[in-house]
Amino acid sequence: MTPKQTIAIIGSGWGGYNLAHTLDTSKYNVVVISPEATSAITPLLASAACGLFYSQLAQEPIRRKHLDVQYVKACVQDIQFKEKTLICQPAFHSLKDEQFKISYDKVVVAPGCSTNTFNTPGVDEHAFMVKNVNDANAIRDKINENLEIASLPCTTENQQRQLLHIAIVGGGPTGIEIAAELTDLFAGDLMKLYPHLRGKASVTVHDVAPNILAPFDQKLSEYAQKSLEKHKVEIKVNSHIINVTNDTIETREDGKIAYGILIWATGNKQRPIVDQLNVMKSNHGLKRILTDDRLQVLALDGTIIPGSYAMGDAADIDGASLPTTAEVAVQKAAYLAHSINAAAVGRTIEPFKYQQRALVTYTGAGDGVIMGRRGHEYTGYGAWLSWRSGNFFWTRSWKRKFMMTLAWIMDWVDGREMARF
Ligand SMILES: Cc1cc2nc3c(=O)[nH]c(=O)nc-3n(C[C@H](O)[C@H](O)[C@H](O)COP(=O)(O)OP(=O)(O)OC[C@H]3O[C@@H](n4cnc5c(N)ncnc54)[C@H](O)[C@@H]3O)c2cc1C
Repeated sequence: MTPKQTIAIIGSGWGGYNLAHTLDTSKYNVVVISPEATSAITPLLASAACGLFYSQLAQEPIRRKHLDVQYVKACVQDIQFKEKTLICQPAFHSLKDEQFKISYDKVVVAPGCSTNTFNTPGVDEHAFMVKNVNDANAIRDKINENLEIASLPCTTENQQRQLLHIAIVGGGPTGIEIAAELTDLFAGDLMKLYPHLRGKASVTVHDVAPNILAPFDQKLSEYAQKSLEKHKVEIKVNSHIINVTNDTIETREDGKIAYGILIWATGNKQRPIVDQLNVMKSNHGLKRILTDDRLQVLALDGTIIPGSYAMGDAADIDGASLPTTAEVAVQKAAYLAHSINAAAVGRTIEPFKYQQRALVTYTGAGDGVIMGRRGHEYTGYGAWLSWRSGNFFWTRSWKRKFMMTLAWIMDWVDGREMARF
């Protein structure tokens, strides 16, 4: 009997996690290498940050009972394609000077992207990002802290308004959904518990573009802006942030603006491992690894590097320009699992084809926007319902679906958990 081949997957996000769970482990040894032992369910992070349910529900652990996948908590620093070896560094501060190698037969590169700060001074030190559950928890803790400071007898009204001013940079779906969840939170449970702070909380969204929600058409973008403004979210488009301190952002247009919490939800930047690789990459905007339409990595001369694949936000198909979304990552992971499983029995499958699904964004107070596949557009309560039910679609285990339903019922009966910390 021929020994099983080893498939090394770099990254445990939407791409890596889904692939690891669908590869045929009776035919392959599957190894996932990632600094994160869980996979964030990113569409749920805004709700988790605002206490709609326990934040643990917004992530799935890589290690699962009955799942024959090896997990290695490390960062891949380099890929030696010729030797089929990964150079890894343990993801533990105490072991940061150690290195080890992992050999593979096939490698799948899916390290995602990090948030792009556009080198704006002060952002790394003072802003909260929204990439994983730790980030959601940090935002949630900061909201609670600021509410309590604002409630001290020695806090002036001006200080209260500043502490409760949340500035969000980035008017894409992530920034808008956080703004929406925050307005729900401030208008609802929190003001029942902090009646002395009523009318003092505010949310502002800054975007450098002339419209928010760039992936949506202009009509829906304008609808979303009006819906948010109706619920007292201030939208500042054409707003360029040039500097950030611990309590102010400075914009080219309006000068210094005081804030209590700053959330940075702008575009994507390639990870260091992607920078490091000497392969073909997109030549404008975000530098993504280019693959053919079977997701095989292309060398600088355009030939395929044998046994290497890339997907998710870190990669794109040459000439395709697919969006950096979970939707694309999930479809590519399903395709790759099918393709690699088929290869084990000597079959090849058709090239990858992306199926565009509806785009949905929540705008607060039971409202939202949907841009469907064939130009169908919806707004209002139906869009909200579709967004909420999407949470079930994104959640990957029955256990979490059940716990989330329970959390919603408890919120409705007894108020959000966040309001009780
Ligand atoms: C708040 C938020 C909400 C979103 N909502 C939606 C939505 O509603 N719909 C939608 O379609 N998309 C949404 N997205 C986008 C979606 O999350 C991304 O497109 C998706 O996560 C990309 O998947 P990925 O596997 O490529 O990368 P990721 O999910 O980012 O995972 C990358 C993994 O690689 C690991 N890694 C990084 N560097 C290394 C390394 N050197 N070695 C090993 N591992 C490494 C990371 O730790 C991480 O585990 C949202 C994103 C955010 C941040």
